[in-house]
Amino acid sequence: MRRGLLLILSSPSGAGKSTLARRLMAWDPTIRFSVSATTRAPRVGETDGREYYFRSRTDFEQMVRTGDMLEHAEVFGNFYGSPRAPVEAAMQEGRDTLFDIDWQGGQQIRNSALGRDVVSIFILPPSIAELESRLRGRAQDSDSVIADRMAKSRDEISHWAEYDYVIVNSDIDIAFAQLQTILQAERLRRDRQPDLAEFVRAMNKEFTDR
Ligand code: ADP
Ligand code: 5GP
Repeated sequence: MRRGLLLILSSPSGAGKSTLARRLMAWDPTIRFSVSATTRAPRVGETDGREYYFRSRTDFEQMVRTGDMLEHAEVFGNFYGSPRAPVEAAMQEGRDTLFDIDWQGGQQIRNSALGRDVVSIFILPPSIAELESRLRGRAQDSDSVIADRMAKSRDEISHWAEYDYVIVNSDIDIAFAQLQTILQAERLRRDRQPDLAEFVRAMNKEFTDR
């Protein structure tokens, strides 16, 4: 059984991470989504434990202090973090974990002991005008929240070169096909197939026994 890999998706808000993440998990239900904890308020339609664990600032800080977070960061004035235990459990079961986290979280996991298991993908919008129109089209945030997210997107985009792969999400079907290709190729890496040595040993025995 191979070790599960850690698939990190980052992008400026509105570029399409959540849409791609949802599609990927519908395509392969064995992938585990890392449900983050956050101190931000739930949006309409969000459920505690599904999109996020919505926590008070005090509870969040306690999780950080006790080492229960794989990474954490402040984004748009709220705290976000990835709980460690579900990720470690998934890896041991040979399942892949998908993270929708910002560049700060990406850096922390890449630089941690789990760094060799990371595959990181940055999603770019086709243009800044399209990014803004997607944020408005999502109709989940007020004008001031959208303005704040647009202001931060330049900073997020400046980290694109730290990622293993970059997808420009113009057409969602093409972007999704590219994401599938990346995951399929990464799963086939020799060092992610621990049973190969045994497989080839059995073949060699077959040669000998002929
Ligand atoms: P993020 O998770 O990066 O903030 P979302 O996945 O919520 O972004 O996408 C923002 C909005 O843009 C959503 O309304 C989504 O349906 C839409 N969207 C995503 N990808 C595309 C695309 N390729 N073309 C048009 N709209 C898109
Ligand atoms: P949103 O509030 O729109 O759900 O997310 C805002 C930003 O926070 C997004 O860029 C998202 O990727 C990032 N984010 C969500 N969860 C985490 C997390 O656990 N850690 C970090 N570092 N960023 C996160």
